Amino acid sequence: NLLVEQTDPELWAAITAENRRQEDHIELIASENYASPAVMAAQGSQLTNKYAEGYPGKRYYGGCEFVDVAETLALNRVKELFGAPCANVQPHSGAQANEAVFLAFLKPGDTIMGMSLAEGGHLTHGMPLNMSGKWFNVVSYGLDANEAIDYDAMERKAHESRPKLIIAGASAYSLHIDFARFAKVAKDVGAIFMVDMAHYAGLIAAGVYPNPVPHADVVTSTTHKSLRGPRGGIILMKPEHEKAINSAIFPGLQGGPLMHVIAAKAVAFKEALTPEFKAYQQQVVKNADTVARTLVERGLRIVSGRTESHVMLVDLRAKGITGKEAEAVLGDAHMTINKNAIPNDPEKPMVTSGVRIGTPAMTTRGFKEEEARMTAHLIADVLDNPRDAAHIAAVREKVSALTRRFPVYG
Ligand code: PLP
Repeated sequence: NLLVEQTDPELWAAITAENRRQEDHIELIASENYASPAVMAAQGSQLTNKYAEGYPGKRYYGGCEFVDVAETLALNRVKELFGAPCANVQPHSGAQANEAVFLAFLKPGDTIMGMSLAEGGHLTHGMPLNMSGKWFNVVSYGLDANEAIDYDAMERKAHESRPKLIIAGASAYSLHIDFARFAKVAKDVGAIFMVDMAHYAGLIAAGVYPNPVPHADVVTSTTHKSLRGPRGGIILMKPEHEKAINSAIFPGLQGGPLMHVIAAKAVAFKEALTPEFKAYQQQVVKNADTVARTLVERGLRIVSGRTESHVMLVDLRAKGITGKEAEAVLGDAHMTINKNAIPNDPEKPMVTSGVRIGTPAMTTRGFKEEEARMTAHLIADVLDNPRDAAHIAAVREKVSALTRRFPVYG
């Protein structure tokens, strides 16, 4: 750190300000977390210097004997963690992991089916401006009247449109997903079944959310959300798909793998195999349930009625405030969230009527139910009186008192 400060003081100022922000704010973005110092140290290691195109034992460069060890550790651990027969730990990101599945199984013009972005899906599952929406014919499924996935409609649409690929997984869906039901539909229509478990991966690793691996042909994920590793992606697959997926990642989509990130993934997977990680994920779910119940007590509505995971969508309309404004005023009070459309949102995507809240990051810094409840009350306090600067400053003081008690990196 001293070296960065001496070499590039201008950049160092931005890094220290960001470090301070991460300590001072209650981080409520559902897709973020605090990686451990060991994960960050591996990511900052000399492995960043190494080219290693190919896979362990089959590289296009010399000198790969030690990075082969790192990648093999990551592979063995991730397979153990999720009970997967085969894995690829090279995707640079979650989006690239998904693109690799498309490249392995699809041709432009093919039909795919995914959850609608407006109802909780991810943009790589068929949003019109994403490659998935531009290159494929997209049929979307969404939610029923109770704001649970409409499995019957999904099944009907699958039989009507006969997609080549069905995607389950979401970025803003708080309930368990019935992966067995999806798998049956995919089998009935002859589709490849892909699960994008990016949001739920840490919970799944700890056994507190259903595991899609026994049901899916391929499972993609990020490693940096609830799984608490470095920024990156992974793919798990059945043995019959290993060759196609591996060649879609390299040479299909990527050149040299990020060996320093793969090393950091190995560390994160080792951490995720511990009993402490299981206890952490159980607390993530308890904290999310506590936040949701407290917000309901304070007059807010939770989309789907509740959460069974780390995440919830909050309908703000009862408070007469948009997602955009809520994001800004909560930020002023040092609570970081993102605005998010709710189902049938009357507002534009850049405005929205909702916010998404997640508990992985607050739980990493040590928050239990008591602090989760306090946080939810602080959120509601801001939303009850969002345009009074003195009130926001008073809430910010309470947030400061809380974050000082729970330093992240010490
Ligand atoms: N899949 C899901 C379900 C996500 O929520 C996200 C990120 O938000 C991604 C994929 C994309 O991951 P990345 O940002 O690493 O490309």
